[in-house]
Amino acid sequence: MIASTNEQKSDPQRVVMHADMDAFYASVEQRDDPALRGKPVIVGGTSARGVVTAASYEARAFGVHSAMPGYEARRLCPDGIFISGTMKKYSRESKRLFEIFRSYSPKVQGLSLDEAFLDLTGTARLMGTPRSIGERLRAEVRERTGLAVSVGIAPVKMVAKIASGSCKPDGLLEIRPGEVRAFLDPLPIGRIWGVGPVAEARLKLLGIQKVGDLAQLEPRRLVELLGDWGLDIGRLARGEEYSEVEPYRDPRSYSEENTFNADISDREVLNSAIITHSEAVARRLRADRFRARTVVLKLKLGKRTASGPRGYPTLSRRVTLPEATDDGATISRSAMDLLARSGLDVPVRLLGVGVANIVRESPGQLSLFEPGERNARRGRLNDALDEISKRFGNDAVTRGERDRTERAALSTQIKRGEREGPQ
Ligand SMILES: [Mg+2]
Repeated sequence: MIASTNEQKSDPQRVVMHADMDAFYASVEQRDDPALRGKPVIVGGTSARGVVTAASYEARAFGVHSAMPGYEARRLCPDGIFISGTMKKYSRESKRLFEIFRSYSPKVQGLSLDEAFLDLTGTARLMGTPRSIGERLRAEVRERTGLAVSVGIAPVKMVAKIASGSCKPDGLLEIRPGEVRAFLDPLPIGRIWGVGPVAEARLKLLGIQKVGDLAQLEPRRLVELLGDWGLDIGRLARGEEYSEVEPYRDPRSYSEENTFNADISDREVLNSAIITHSEAVARRLRADRFRARTVVLKLKLGKRTASGPRGYPTLSRRVTLPEATDDGATISRSAMDLLARSGLDVPVRLLGVGVANIVRESPGQLSLFEPGERNARRGRLNDALDEISKRFGNDAVTRGERDRTERAALSTQIKRGEREGPQ
């Protein structure tokens, strides 16, 4: 098969940098406690059901990596130092990082607490070559935070991100426009954005192993194999992905979840977890001035149906409200209703509440379904709750039960609507 002869349509001057901290949480811990340096440090995975959030390079040598169940990490690395981690500290660090990132480009797109895309297009005359900007940024991060950051530079976002991953730890890799195909071609197809394990297995059965194999397929064949989505995958494989670095994108959903210390059947306990999560989700919606129309209840059941961490069946139920809301009581009522109607009688391992169908809040929005006075009063109550949470922390307004719940893992995701964090 012959590669499509379509030349790249990108602006040849386009320069995207991807900056990504190395083993972020673990590195912060090693920086703050000299006794941890040079040792296998594992953040997360401290409780029976916890998951590893970050592993130092010393721990990675044992095969430990993030998202691995804590028990497995312990088996691979029995002498590892397990730390539960402090989200507040990492958020503070993240804020400093993003301040540095923003001093290098007005267009910074945060992907998580420790990584971002920076658009360097057109900055060459002012700031020097992309490589020299990358080296300066790495030096400044090192000097001001004591932490290592790896940097990838390329004409498109996906390639910049793969590049930073390839030069870790503490590296810099620049892929120039003419080098993109040669860089991508030998990589396994799983490195392409959106190619998950299922698509990967299917393509491999057809002998498509490397990104280069994918890049050479005719568009018609790609559609036959993968549907319309195949065209996007083909473009990505050829390095033709020209989405902008977006400093701020409206969120598509908000959610909160927890894993229980022991599987729970008691409806009261489940409902109180629903209330806790609904209030937290609503608080974040209000902080960002959004409302949501769809409420989602997610349950992971305690009964295993297959081996491995994915062996617990997950179900998700959703309901669309007559009008958008940012009120915790409304969200929790809908979620409890979904739980009641699920007819579930199996113990629950994990419970989550989320909202989707997000709309911007319009001030003084008139309600069609609730008397205005009731809305106004509830609005005042929410204002008061937000004020308390601002002054005393989110736990001050937790009405649900905390003892029986734990967070599934520390998240590296940017949680929209929270006070700490890069945005
Ligand atoms: Mg990182």
